[in-house]
Amino acid sequence: MSSPPFITDSGDDGHWQQQVVCPICRDKNQHVIPQAFDTDGDDNGKAWDGRGDLYRIPFWGECGHNWHLCLGFHKGETFIYAEKIDVTQAPAPLKAFLNQLWEEGES
Ligand SMILES: [Zn+2]
Repeated sequence: MSSPPFITDSGDDGHWQQQVVCPICRDKNQHVIPQAFDTDGDDNGKAWDGRGDLYRIPFWGECGHNWHLCLGFHKGETFIYAEKIDVTQAPAPLKAFLNQLWEEGES
């Protein structure tokens, strides 16, 4: 079984073995962005193709990419994937966080 594009084997053991990497460029310096989950029960296909909720955990990478680790629930099963964040479509608090983060990095 191959690893998903956002996981790599760090070469270490235990809790340190599976490491999150950027799904776009595989950079290892990825930061979780604190974010309240904005889910309201079974969404019936609004947030993703499944009937259940989609939980998006936002990340920013030192590589310059922003992305979500997504957990989608559908009929008793949960699927995991990554998607690039479209900042123009992001919820206001996430958009503000990312805009401030990258503006500070440019100064
Ligand atoms: Zn990247």
